[in-house]
Formats: sequence, structure tokens, C-alpha cells
Amino acid sequence: MEHSKHNIFSKVANSENYFIVNLLSGQADILEPDETKRFIDNKLTNKQVYIDKGYIVDPKEEEKLFKKKYLDFIDDRDSDEVQLFFTPWYTCNFDCSYCFQDEYTNQNDDVKDEVIEAFFSYVDTKFADRKKYITIFGGEPFLNTPSKKASIQKVIDGANQRKLDIAVVTNGYNIAEFIDILKTANVREIQITVDGTKEVHDSRRMLKGGQGSFENIAKGVDLLLENNIPLNMRMIVDKDNVKNLPELAQFAIEKGWTKSPLFKTALGRNYELHHCQTHNKRLFQRIEMYQEIYDIVKKHPEVLEFHKPSFSIAKFIFENGELPNPLFDSCSGAKTEWAFDYTGRVYSCTATVGNMGDELGTFYPKIELNEDLIEEWEERDILSIEKCSSCSVKLACGGGCAAIAKSRTGKLHSEDCRPVKELLELGIGLYHKG
Ligand code: SF4
Ligand code: SF4
Repeated sequence: MEHSKHNIFSKVANSENYFIVNLLSGQADILEPDETKRFIDNKLTNKQVYIDKGYIVDPKEEEKLFKKKYLDFIDDRDSDEVQLFFTPWYTCNFDCSYCFQDEYTNQNDDVKDEVIEAFFSYVDTKFADRKKYITIFGGEPFLNTPSKKASIQKVIDGANQRKLDIAVVTNGYNIAEFIDILKTANVREIQITVDGTKEVHDSRRMLKGGQGSFENIAKGVDLLLENNIPLNMRMIVDKDNVKNLPELAQFAIEKGWTKSPLFKTALGRNYELHHCQTHNKRLFQRIEMYQEIYDIVKKHPEVLEFHKPSFSIAKFIFENGELPNPLFDSCSGAKTEWAFDYTGRVYSCTATVGNMGDELGTFYPKIELNEDLIEEWEERDILSIEKCSSCSVKLACGGGCAAIAKSRTGKLHSEDCRPVKELLELGIGLYHKG
């Protein structure tokens, strides 16, 4: 018997205690310093408890369990819901300081009706037996011209005919102009990016021409909630705006947004994808960002009313009282996520959509798929990435994002590491009471 290679074991932030988390056995515990020492030195007085919890294992038995759970994961994913992104154009009315699409060809084209029809007929055949929903993406999908509004209505009508939910990723500037169209849809969620309170947000997410966008967006949020439409407010964080988080949280609390069950939030890290950013000194490494957020939340606990950071699986554990299933693959691209654009191309996901060379085929004017490339995407998981095989946190990390890994190493089957242990140190330190 030996210590499981899936034990994630470290010290809780700002505490003398340690934690042990094992995703394969589905167990987690806090250990006091004396017990920790006995565990490390193999001098446990209650060893059977550790065996029962899968922290101490027979490696052969553990390997069998690993294989079984892997097959369960693949089976479950085959029946998971698929998210289908549709990009009707890459045009945008904003000039955000960090846009990764800003080097895409921004032809001011309208999407042709026959492309929307071809998209739905592809969905009807390729995803006939799958649960699914459509996410309208951009560029900016909510552009206020009659022809662009008619195209969005056409996409929503197509979804309605098939009784599919829709989601929209928008900058939120033109919500008022699109609210009547949205009322005709089954809206799962509208995702809007807000990078801080007025001054901070407007310095990063301005209209082309430089005019601020915060006030329109805030009115749009009110309007969505008044109309019972769920929204997910996402803040893109870097060193320039992170300190504004408490103020944004306070603003949302005062507006009454955080009281609504329809209001969700997310924090996204500003990072480089496909090309370098001009102001890349402001970018955080993932752990740096979470360390900063941890410090902010310690000082301003009201931030948690606005957003509870995940800290890897820490939030999940404390909210659900159990561990999530082991994550053999954290990338949904070309598995439970696909993206399609107005040129008729098919992509793996939002990180690759529109990026030249990343297309996996076409759905218009005719269906032609690069099956070899698709298979390469489908086969990427922690078993196919060499570095992941000996990694103790692999069942929490899942190998990271394929697009980021590929843009960094040139290889799809390479790692995009998550600092799982360090995130758990912070997250367990923050959420564990007692
Ligand atoms: S490549 Fe990255 S962005 Fe795309 S689905 Fe995978 S994890 Fe998500
Ligand atoms: S991507 Fe890195 S951290 Fe994640 S499982 Fe693979 S080796 Fe481990």
C-alpha cells in the first residue's frame, strides 16, 4: 500500500492546517499539523480510515478505478448538452483595448439568409440526437441596423422552431434596441462584459471613436432583469482594473442586481491568444490573479455577494459538500462545443472561431469536414498529453485549454497547466470555516 498518486496535498493559506483532496476517490479532508506529520511519515494510528478514503492505496486497484472512471467520463460526455456558437459577423461597435479579434478581417458584411438556413440544417442533421442550445456570438451580435436585427431575429426564429434555448455573448451596449427580439426567444443567458465602474470600464471598453459605454450597459442590465431575462456579467481582469472589483461589487449590490436569482457573474483573466497585446505588462499569470482576488476578498468580504471565485474546485466543494467528478478533459472544443461563422466555416470553439488556419471544415456552401483534424481535437485529454501522465493534479486540471496550449507550443496535444494546488491553498483558506 502507498500514498495515492492522485492525492493533492498542501497547506491551507493563512493556517497551520493542511488539506488533502483526492478526485479519484472523491474525498477531501483538513488535517491538523500533528496528523499531517503522521501521514507524511507513514506513522498513522488510524491507517484504515485513510485506506477507506482512497488516500492510501494498492496501486493496481487504483489503476483499475482510474480506467473505470475514465470510461464513465467518456460515456457521460457523449450524452452531455452541446453548445453551438453562431457568429453572424466579426464586426463590432467597440474598440476594446485588449480585443483578440481585432486582427480578424472585419468585413462589414451581413450574414446571408442561406448561411443561417445552412447552419440550422447542419445542426438538424449532425446534432439530431444531442441535447443542445445555440449561442449567438461575434464580433458584436447586437448591432443596431435593420438588416443586422433581421438576421438576429432569423437565428432566434430558427432556434424557436426547434425549441432550442439561446444565449448571447454581447458587449451589452444595444440591449434596449434588441429587447423586443429577445422577448421572442427562450433565453438561457445573456453574457455581458463589464470591466469595472464607469471610469475604469470606459477606459477599456469604449465605442469606436472613444465614447464610454458603461451607462448604456448598466441600463441594459436593468432592462434584462425587469424582463426576467437571465444574465451573466463577466469582468475581464488584469492589473489595471482588479482593484476596482470592490467598487463594481458595491455598485451591483446598490443597484439590487445581486439579489436577483437571474444575475450571475464570472471573472475572466485577460490573456494573450493568437497575437501579442500591446500592453502585455498588465496581464496576470493565473495564480497571481487569484492571489490578488484572495487579498481583495479578505479585505472586502462584500465582494463575495457579487462574485464567489472558484479557486479551482474549492468553491464547488464548499457549496456542494462533495467533490466534482474527476476531470479527464477540461476542453470542450469539438466535443461538446462547436462554433460556426457567417463565411460557412466550422471551428472547435470560441477561442478558434474566425482564426485563419483553425477551421475544421465548412457547413456552407457545402459540408466538408477535415475528419483528421477533428479526430485530433476529439482525442485530446489528460491521457493523450505526455506531461499530464505523471501530474498529481490532473483530475482537477483536465489538461487546460487546447487553443492556448496550441498557440503556445504549436501542438494541440500539449499541456495548458492550471496551478491547482496553489488555487486550492487559497480557496480552502477562504471558504473553510472552522
Ligand atoms: S480550446 Fe480552450 S476555449 Fe476552446 S473549448 Fe477548449 S478550453 Fe475552451
Ligand atoms: S495541463 Fe499541466 S497541470 Fe494540467 S494535468 Fe497536465 S501537466 Fe498537470
